[in-house]
Amino acid sequence: MSRFADSRINAISPYVPGEQPRDRKYIKLNTNENPYYTSARAVAAVDGETLLNLKRYSDPESRELTAAIAARYGVDCAEVLVTNGSDEALAFAFYAYCRQGVCFPDVTYGFYEVIAKLFGCPCEKISLLEDFTLRPSDYFGKGKSIVIANPNAQTGIAADGGDIESIIANNRENIVIVDQAYADFSDWNAVPLIKKYDNLVTVNTFSKSRSLAGARVGYIIAPPQLIEDIKKVKDSFHPYNVNAVSSVLAKNAIEDEEYFKSTVEKIVKTRGFLVDGLKEYGFEVLPSSANFVLAKCAMGGERLYKLLKDRGILVRHFGDERIKDYIRITVGTDSETGKLLNVIKEILDDEKC
Ligand code: PMP
Repeated sequence: MSRFADSRINAISPYVPGEQPRDRKYIKLNTNENPYYTSARAVAAVDGETLLNLKRYSDPESRELTAAIAARYGVDCAEVLVTNGSDEALAFAFYAYCRQGVCFPDVTYGFYEVIAKLFGCPCEKISLLEDFTLRPSDYFGKGKSIVIANPNAQTGIAADGGDIESIIANNRENIVIVDQAYADFSDWNAVPLIKKYDNLVTVNTFSKSRSLAGARVGYIIAPPQLIEDIKKVKDSFHPYNVNAVSSVLAKNAIEDEEYFKSTVEKIVKTRGFLVDGLKEYGFEVLPSSANFVLAKCAMGGERLYKLLKDRGILVRHFGDERIKDYIRITVGTDSETGKLLNVIKEILDDEKC
């Protein structure tokens, strides 16, 4: 650090994204990306005119994309705000609502704590139960904002929709942010609740179920008054936040419902294949409603992560106390998953010798 850095920057431990190594070709199962290509319809929509017109700023309102998202969910355009990835959506929402205090589970997406510290939001971590599920009443009447990823990051566990609703209903004087990065792989979505609760902010992304992680597009769906608040933050920080190419990609991706459904269906099916295979090899696997699974094996998470990496397969290991014995594996294609399971079997057989 330089001597010029603000003391808050000095104190911060930034979020560490999953590695993107270039030293060899890996089977990449470490950052919960979609293994299937971006919709061909979306790619074809980026025409020469779109590219030539990059001389112009993008639409600060992202109107066409906003309308496409609103149509997909049956909500009003005034209930949608498009962002540069959902990390930006989270940052805007934290800035707008969490500076008096925020709470979230002890095992969840690590970015929440980082952004809270960056913005000076006092944060409280609420312990998940032994089996990594949440007890809704732990979040009742907190008197501060609440952030819940559903399905949860790192565990893949989805809370019951009724439980999430009870948390929103029992905190009517505070904002509840529901991060739905993985919701499309589950059987529940919080968006319809925005019509019923004026304290609900849903944060969503094109990075996972829409195969657009590299385009960096996210969106908030929330009651119009909350969108107004968050838009104020956005316009004070990054008015042209979504670039013109990504807007076209995302608009066409969200209109390509058939491709979306087919890839999500495949991922959910392969998830079952992965879970069964891991269980057969003696892993303890948390019940996942996401495009990844968190699994525990006897040899320990870090060791297995390293042995897999040596063999060209990248998964994610977190050093956090409660999940350090686990590895997180993104659901790839059937072929990638089959290779992973074969390599795990080889590793386990070697250990026995
Ligand atoms: N929320 C959760 C729970 C995530 O796991 C991620 C991806 N790391 C994000 C939000 C951010 O995703 P993006 O910025 O690509 O939309």
